[in-house]
Amino acid sequence: MQTQPTASHFINGEYVEDTNGTPIEVIYPATGEVIATVYAATPEIVEKAITAARDAQAAWAAMTGTERGRILRRAADIMRERNHDLSILETYDTGKPYQETSVADATSGADALEYFGGLAASLTGEHIQLGEDWVYTRREPLGVCVGIGAWNYPTQIACWKGAPALACGNSIIFKPSETTPLCALKVAEILVEAGLPAGLYNVVQGMGEVGASLVTDPRVDKVSLTGSVPTGRKVYAAAAEGIKHVTMELGGKSPMIVFEDADIENAISGAILGNFYSSGQICSNGTRVFVHRDIKEAFLKRLAERLDTAVIGDPMDPDTSFGPMVSKRQMEIALGYVEKGKAEGARLVYGGAAIDRDGFYMQPTVFADVTDDMSIAREEIFGPVMSVLDFETEAEVMARANATEFGLAAGVFTKDLSRAHRVAAGFEAGTCYINTYNDAPVEAPFGGMKNSGVGRENSKAAIDHYSQLKTVYVRMGDMEAPF
Ligand code: NDP
Repeated sequence: MQTQPTASHFINGEYVEDTNGTPIEVIYPATGEVIATVYAATPEIVEKAITAARDAQAAWAAMTGTERGRILRRAADIMRERNHDLSILETYDTGKPYQETSVADATSGADALEYFGGLAASLTGEHIQLGEDWVYTRREPLGVCVGIGAWNYPTQIACWKGAPALACGNSIIFKPSETTPLCALKVAEILVEAGLPAGLYNVVQGMGEVGASLVTDPRVDKVSLTGSVPTGRKVYAAAAEGIKHVTMELGGKSPMIVFEDADIENAISGAILGNFYSSGQICSNGTRVFVHRDIKEAFLKRLAERLDTAVIGDPMDPDTSFGPMVSKRQMEIALGYVEKGKAEGARLVYGGAAIDRDGFYMQPTVFADVTDDMSIAREEIFGPVMSVLDFETEAEVMARANATEFGLAAGVFTKDLSRAHRVAAGFEAGTCYINTYNDAPVEAPFGGMKNSGVGRENSKAAIDHYSQLKTVYVRMGDMEAPF
């Protein structure tokens, strides 16, 4: 497959190059080889993108929702037809196994395009009768949106931000992570092929500075970031300067609670998916697995047996179920946490080492006897490192589960119906799971509480974050005034 894109950026309906920007080498995580080079956006490229987005937006907003939605739904169909090639590209960009990318990336991007394409025609304001007078509200677009992505789901993030933005009549400029710059360009290409007018979906490459220059531009009306809490703080502050709308999808250190009555196999499936899918590089992962003391050893024994069946290897092989990490740097961060875990007294019960082969592979890793104060229990690792903590009572585990700055997700495994709902109600987290983990269908709101974010992606809730209401008061009779 050709991994070198036609050019680095996609602006005003076409590929654009400017080799004056800093070169960014794209590395295939499974081998460490350079598979493409793109150039960070220069100020001229950023200017071009903002001008194109600004110029195109009003005509797009003036189209009917049905017309806008039709284009998005056509793009969804094209993405599904090309799922194989898009999945291979996603695997090159991120290193995630084809077994995952073929079912979770372009497919989920297509779901977002289809869902918001379907909603576009039914976006309305409302009529509020006030005696003889009345008020009506118009749901209007925000204008130019900027999307900034993390590297773990480059196609999905490009669509989760682009689809609602476009459905509401906005234009968007998307800056992918410098680690995974390839996939968003394909999303832009497909949207134009589906009939999207030029200038509405633009992609510019670059590091944090390029993101920062977009966020601070007064012509930008909204910023949606998927990234870490420290970056979120900076981007939120920069956006506040211009009183811009924001969506912040940030990090997590989510709890998963396994009660003594849980179906152990299901709970282990949840713990595996919530810690090792995408080599652990998922924001909502349940990395603090609280297991009731009575079943802890049985849980650990069976977990190890199931981890032994992971197929670790070439991510392009459809049998591979566990691939490399996205970069050497990210692997070193995760391995650093393994050392911290050992030094702080946790018991390493599985994995814990880099794998001796090309690329950025480390073993799925499990620590037991983890306590709440340890670094591995407090900090987001963003790698395949699971911490298992013991507990005895529901009240105790709820207090400990919530004792974190984060609030992205949380899960509970139990057969007790009342307890399941009580625990879900008690979690301080934006997305909660009962007897499952990490499902993220486009129909359901997704986002964080506490430091994990602001706003919601997906579902009808996302519409509120990509549109604004204008209130129009209509007086039917004469106006009264005091003098
Ligand atoms: P980072 O926070 O490092 O970067 C996120 C994006 O922001 C990148 O495109 C980055 O550019 C850009 N950026 C960095 N600094 C600035 C700045 N000052 N102004 C504007 N943009 C900036 O996150 P990672 O890419 O390392 O992704 C991992 C993080 O993302 C984890 O914390 C994870 O939890 C979170 N995440 C959250 C999700 C959610 O939905 N809640 C989903 C997926 C991940 P560059 O990297 O190119 O320098």
